[in-house]
Amino acid sequence: MTVKDRGMVMKRGVNADRGANLRADALKAVQSRTPVHTGIDYTETSVSDIFAQNVFNRATMRAVLPKNVYKAVIRCLDHGEQLDASMADIVANAMKDWAISRGATHFTHWFQPMTGLTAEKHDAFLVFSGEEGQPNLEFSGKLLIQGEPDASSFPSGGIRSTFEARGYTGWDPTSPAFLMESVNGKTLCIPTVFCSYSGHALDKKTPLLRSMDAISKQAVRLLNLLGNDSKRVTCTVGAEQEYFLIDEAYYLARPDIINAGRALFGARPPKGQEMEDHYWGSIKERVLAFMMDTEAELYKLGVPVKTRHNEVAPAQFEVAPVFETSNLATDHNMLLMEVFRNTARKHGLRCLFHEKPFSGVNGSGKHNNWSMADERGNNLLDPGHTPQDNQQFVAVLTAVIRAVNKYGHLLRASIAFAGNDHRLGANEAPPAIMSIYLGDKLTQVVEALISGKKEISVQSGTLQFGVTSLPELPRDDSDRNRTSPFAFTGNKFEFRAVGSSQSIAWPNAVLNTIVAESLDYVASEIEKLVKSGTDLGAAVEKVVRETLSENKRILFNGDNYSREWHEEAERRGLPNLKTTPEALPCLVDKETLALFKKYEVLENEELVSRYHINLEAYCKTVNIESLLTANMARTMILPAALDYQQKVAQTIAATRAAVNGVNLSTQEHLLKELCEKICSLQSAIDKLESMVKEAHHEESGDHEAENLNRARFFEQKVIPAMNAVRAFADELELIVDDSLWPLPKFREMLYVY
Ligand code: ADP
Ligand code: MG
Repeated sequence: MTVKDRGMVMKRGVNADRGANLRADALKAVQSRTPVHTGIDYTETSVSDIFAQNVFNRATMRAVLPKNVYKAVIRCLDHGEQLDASMADIVANAMKDWAISRGATHFTHWFQPMTGLTAEKHDAFLVFSGEEGQPNLEFSGKLLIQGEPDASSFPSGGIRSTFEARGYTGWDPTSPAFLMESVNGKTLCIPTVFCSYSGHALDKKTPLLRSMDAISKQAVRLLNLLGNDSKRVTCTVGAEQEYFLIDEAYYLARPDIINAGRALFGARPPKGQEMEDHYWGSIKERVLAFMMDTEAELYKLGVPVKTRHNEVAPAQFEVAPVFETSNLATDHNMLLMEVFRNTARKHGLRCLFHEKPFSGVNGSGKHNNWSMADERGNNLLDPGHTPQDNQQFVAVLTAVIRAVNKYGHLLRASIAFAGNDHRLGANEAPPAIMSIYLGDKLTQVVEALISGKKEISVQSGTLQFGVTSLPELPRDDSDRNRTSPFAFTGNKFEFRAVGSSQSIAWPNAVLNTIVAESLDYVASEIEKLVKSGTDLGAAVEKVVRETLSENKRILFNGDNYSREWHEEAERRGLPNLKTTPEALPCLVDKETLALFKKYEVLENEELVSRYHINLEAYCKTVNIESLLTANMARTMILPAALDYQQKVAQTIAATRAAVNGVNLSTQEHLLKELCEKICSLQSAIDKLESMVKEAHHEESGDHEAENLNRARFFEQKVIPAMNAVRAFADELELIVDDSLWPLPKFREMLYVY
């Protein structure tokens, strides 16, 4: 066989191999996509007709329950009163009849284990009774109130020994039961908490509910002290959700996105987000069809989604609901993510909630808008118009500022996991340094409160005030600061560092707990002064002044992305916990353990278990990503590069054979470059694999230290090794023949859909 012949064989070989290239298939598949029509015609059906049609909410209960039972349920919801067993039976029966009449055959306790996802195990209503074993549909109060799922396969962080594998789910009546639809029927889902035999919380919801009680207790104390007779305070949350959509065909051709939720390879696309042409751009028809489909599903579930728009990065979008109590907002956000994932598939799309699916363009977050309201719905962070409101606002604001300053590291820890590490501080999301943005006007007010100045000048002229009078603050701040992790936005705070994939339960539980402690502090200090004879107004003024001046280092209105701020923050002594292994250990500080115990949010063991679960999750995530990186590099990227190397080598040899004395130095240079990069890639893969092995050898016999050491090893050794593999692979992507490249490229995934 001549060199030329061999070249021909090679060429055919290459083409035949690439015939199975999923990327080429994906590009073809995408071309034939059309928007999917899903059925609801809003000229015939109004949103209000379908809203909450699948929810066993107050309105439904009022319609189907006897009056006394309905009233008992409402007392349970509004005042935390227990529902007795006979009442529970009646509620269960009504719930079952309602569910069956709407097509349900099964029920499930729906809970939120420490995986950060939701869990469900379905049981039929079907029972067999009587002598002939007649099939009947039944559901009792007992089944409504408690379930006993096997907990052994859920993370417990060492809290539950395997010999007592049983876990318990307990009805959370504050979140209404709902029907989950599938093409072949409906399932009644009952939101529950999940705990161990010994009563330890094994889920994300229990600490959230406890933290809501804690904050209510302390806020009510403060309000009562200031002459407001409220009896209950709830936390309100509106979670703006960012996400990416890519065509399903690309997804199926990307093992990394399938298994790790993000692209572990991919050179920066020539066009990123620099044209700023996606943010709030007109929504593509196919995407809008998807969005409207999700909205219809969510309306039926009573999830009040309100806003939809294109986000900054190409193929990135946002959905925002109307705020609700934090418990409901949490459940609804979990439902929202599930509905989005499922609906995307119907549209030939995949929805990515990862914090950083594509390096080089913005990642996704979840902006946790947070405030508190009394039982009449008055927002405690609304500056208000009257002097009394102002005094209350100033005291509450002071407590929040103190909480974030004193416990910023805990807020940081509440959003610490592998995915979010890619995003925080990457000039697209707040840094890992916690600080508060108040806006110019409120900052002026705070400064005046600290200095005791009685007047400040604002736009509308001079303003006289002590603690009891405030300037009217613009609700919609035009100088809104998008770089701050914790920004005051007129009548609420926006915690912007929350990751897009994470449950908001834990960040809110932490936020509520630290603010509860701070409200306790402010109330206690005021009480002390009043007891010793100081007049209330003066006491408030003094406590506010002292507390603000002790905690003012947390206030920062400037650009949080800038290097100057990092330096300034260091001077101020603010912690900068850049990675998850750095951020998590504060969860098990003595002070933290005492804090969560004092406010009855988490027992020490419960908090320690969460610390370990988070560390383990970090290690597992990085481990999976590393194995995938090595595997894909070896089996997909190297072969493509080698194909190209061979192609170039063949070309050089064939040309040399055909023409005498021709100058082939550029081709040879290309071949050399390819060989070198392939060689570098290969040794980077070897290094990564040995690092991963070593990570698992980090055993000291001390479980406590072991998890942290391993996490640190993954962070400091494995991640850099993984990044090295990617760097060489991405360089190869930029020189290898496009028709040989097996993985859909960023320029395709982000733009062609
Ligand atoms: P953006 O920050 O993008 O300007 P919006 O002003 O539209 O967003 O509101 C963001 C979110 O804040 C919405 O989900 C909204 O319901 C929520 N929100 C408004 N008021 C409160 C409140 N008092 N407590 C909690 N969330 C609130
Ligand atoms: Mg926002």
